[in-house]
Amino acid sequence: MTIVRAHDFLSWRNESRRLLAADVSPADVHWAGANETLFGGEQATEAKIGSVASVPKEFLRLAQTAALHRDDDRWNVLYRVLYRLTHSEPSLLKVGIDDDVRRLELMNQAVSRDMHKMTAFVRFRRMENSDPECMVAWYSPDHHVVKAIAPWFSRRFGGVRWSILTPDECAHWDLEKLTFTPGVPRSAAPASDDMEHLWKDYYASIFNPARVKVKAMKAEMPVRHWATLPEAEIIPNLLAKANVRVIEMAKNQKSSAAEFVPRTNDLQQLRAAASVCRGCELYARATHVVFGEGRPDAKVVMVGEQPGDEEDLKGHPFVGPAGRLLDKAMLEAGLDREQVYVTNAVKHFKWIERGKRRIHAKPSGIEISSCRPWLEAELASIQPELVVCLGATAAQSLMGRDFRVTTERGIFFPHRWAKQLVATIHPSAILRMPDRRDEEYALFVHDLKLIAAKVRELEAASRRLS
Ligand code: SF4
Repeated sequence: MTIVRAHDFLSWRNESRRLLAADVSPADVHWAGANETLFGGEQATEAKIGSVASVPKEFLRLAQTAALHRDDDRWNVLYRVLYRLTHSEPSLLKVGIDDDVRRLELMNQAVSRDMHKMTAFVRFRRMENSDPECMVAWYSPDHHVVKAIAPWFSRRFGGVRWSILTPDECAHWDLEKLTFTPGVPRSAAPASDDMEHLWKDYYASIFNPARVKVKAMKAEMPVRHWATLPEAEIIPNLLAKANVRVIEMAKNQKSSAAEFVPRTNDLQQLRAAASVCRGCELYARATHVVFGEGRPDAKVVMVGEQPGDEEDLKGHPFVGPAGRLLDKAMLEAGLDREQVYVTNAVKHFKWIERGKRRIHAKPSGIEISSCRPWLEAELASIQPELVVCLGATAAQSLMGRDFRVTTERGIFFPHRWAKQLVATIHPSAILRMPDRRDEEYALFVHDLKLIAAKVRELEAASRRLS
């Protein structure tokens, strides 16, 4: 009997190559898990490592996922299937009733489901006295999925440092790269903090008593995860009040980011809190929340509509084609982007799929008003002299639905959130007008020059007063 050890897909693949090259039958090999003691037996014959005889891509996909399953027997199953595929059964994967194929598929499904559950049930808590701020979550996955799912968390929560602690291994994100360390016990994670209230409030707000089915809820949100879910504490109470809430909901159906906005003027804290906002449904299909960026004491705040495809992927505002056009126009108009805070009326990217492309979709009135508390919190923190609305969505968010950029463009209005507010078109609109691009661009630069002059005027007035 040949005994070999595998601890992940790559080590299994390397050992399998050696075994295949030596034509070792699955009946003559025992795969030991990473923690299994190897006693007796012999190591696999060291053969020249070459490519495994060709196998369907589908097998590699299934094997990579099944390798994350907790069952120690997975390596034996994988090797049996590999051996049979490369020895006279090239179409084995099509035989759904075969015991090995069935086990491979079941393991694959279990791991995929576990990864999905992890994205739904990890709850970050703020580490006390951490500087810089760091969020920590404790979670106990069924399978070895931490490394596989960590990149998803780094995309979704890329703007904040976090650690996900699990009994198997821990993932850490430092805003630039992911690292992994050995597992830790539950006691290593903080017990509770302000974030817990956010989650409880959020869950209470989305809990729909009209649709509640306790059995289905327990299947979707298994009871064993409840220990790490702050909202689980309030489920019994919510269920008890379900009937009353059905009546209330019918009377008062609304959504808003308001309950996610912490009572602070600190932009960093606002940014971190926005990354877990569930004030509307747009977070669900976006990669990053795209919060505003720039000086916290900026005199000018520019507000666009929503992040685009590139901004969503990078997590920063105005870094796509429209942002580059804005940079160019600001330079020509004498406005220093370093002195300006840029943000959007809606913080998550709304899109529709067209082939392989994600096409911008205009946010609805409800989504714009749901997200307004974030914009108001930014403006309350910065207290700019001038707000520049780029396009109708931003203008209507701050000036009301009757505001028309076409007729009120370039006019300065006094405003609650700044001394003056002015609107112009969004640079992406210029990119969508290839026939009139030069003309529209010149008008845009003209508007920005008026804005630059207004900034100088407001600054001079402030100096006179001080
Ligand atoms: S778009 Fe705004 S309100 Fe909606 S989830 Fe994102 S941050 Fe929250």
